[in-house]
Amino acid sequence: MSLTKKILISLLLGVIVGIGLSISSQEFFASVDQYVLSPIGQLFINLIMMLVVPIVFVSIVLGTAGLGEPAKLGKIGIQTISFYLITTAIALSIGLGVGIILEPGEEGVFPVNNVEYEESMAPPITETLINIIPKNPLEAMSSGDMLQIIAFAIFIGIALAALGEKTAGIHRLFEQANEILIFLVNLVMKAAPYGAFALIASAIGEAGLHAIGSMAMYMLAVILALVIHGGVIYPLAIKLLGKGNPIKFYKEFFPAMSVGFSTSSSSATLPIAMQIAQEKLGIKKSISSFVQPLGATINMDGTGIMQAVATVFIAQVYAVPLGLNEMIMIILMATLASVGTAGVPGVGLVMLAMVLNQIGLPVEGIALIIGVDRLLDMLRTSLNLAGDAACAYIISENEKRKEAA
Ligand code: ASP
Repeated sequence: MSLTKKILISLLLGVIVGIGLSISSQEFFASVDQYVLSPIGQLFINLIMMLVVPIVFVSIVLGTAGLGEPAKLGKIGIQTISFYLITTAIALSIGLGVGIILEPGEEGVFPVNNVEYEESMAPPITETLINIIPKNPLEAMSSGDMLQIIAFAIFIGIALAALGEKTAGIHRLFEQANEILIFLVNLVMKAAPYGAFALIASAIGEAGLHAIGSMAMYMLAVILALVIHGGVIYPLAIKLLGKGNPIKFYKEFFPAMSVGFSTSSSSATLPIAMQIAQEKLGIKKSISSFVQPLGATINMDGTGIMQAVATVFIAQVYAVPLGLNEMIMIILMATLASVGTAGVPGVGLVMLAMVLNQIGLPVEGIALIIGVDRLLDMLRTSLNLAGDAACAYIISENEKRKEAA
């Protein structure tokens, strides 16, 4: 059976078992989760996380070295970041539009007097930008700071390209390390259906369908906006900008999206997403290895959609009118917030506080959506990953065409 089929089955089973557990007794769920689901899920996450830092580092070094002149890297960098920012702004506009039309946060329905939310401070964006250059590359690797690892790897890659023959030995070493990592990703992917099943069943069992209740409309709005963005915007971009086939794109990339769905982490899914992009979608290695890790760190269209719908929802609940100025502000702030969101579970919600603060909306409103966020995180992470791969695909197809011409 193909990996896609296996993952599809595990996804369905995970959802069914999760729903079953969420309606079973609390104690039963707690023990199944504690002794079976969580350990299996965590084991799987650890397995892929183990590969993230080495893969990002090695493949960006090789990718940069493979691109040759730094000018080419600069060009691809600009294309990538432009694609990321523009699609995120579109995602946010869709989120705002759907939120305004569906009106999920009707005034008076939600308890606003006694909700509390402890805001955790997100680092200011300037700090994130300055810190892209790591003072200590080893520390960056041990703490898994993705942007810093990317920056350091680019420097090493540039040096390898510039030094050419002189560093042929170490270049070869990186190539061999890459072979080892590819082998290991393939191995870990075999565990994906089991890991995904356990993670999905655990997340759905824990979130519980009863938590949905009055939040159904909010969830529907987020899901609808995610579907519009993933079902219309990316296909259009793939077709028009990349001259590719969107259906084939999704069909091949599906296993990576399912792993993203089950782990709720773009970063953790990165090794699998890159492997599929390179092997199944035929994306050039030098492009995938640069565009996807960058995307897993700064490009979060799904997260942006949640933040836009959530902002509209909270404004509606607290009966604060949003004018055009506020909308533009939301798009600007949420684009920054999604750049600053790390690709790990739940951070999108933390960054939402920054958007709400800027618009002058009560941050406590987050308490209303926290209960259903785990489930939405699963969906938005899948879209986040698709956005990164779509960008890599488009740039790679265009590069291929240029090379052939
Ligand atoms: N879980 C998301 C991701 O990893 C980030 C978020 O929205 O919280 O892509």
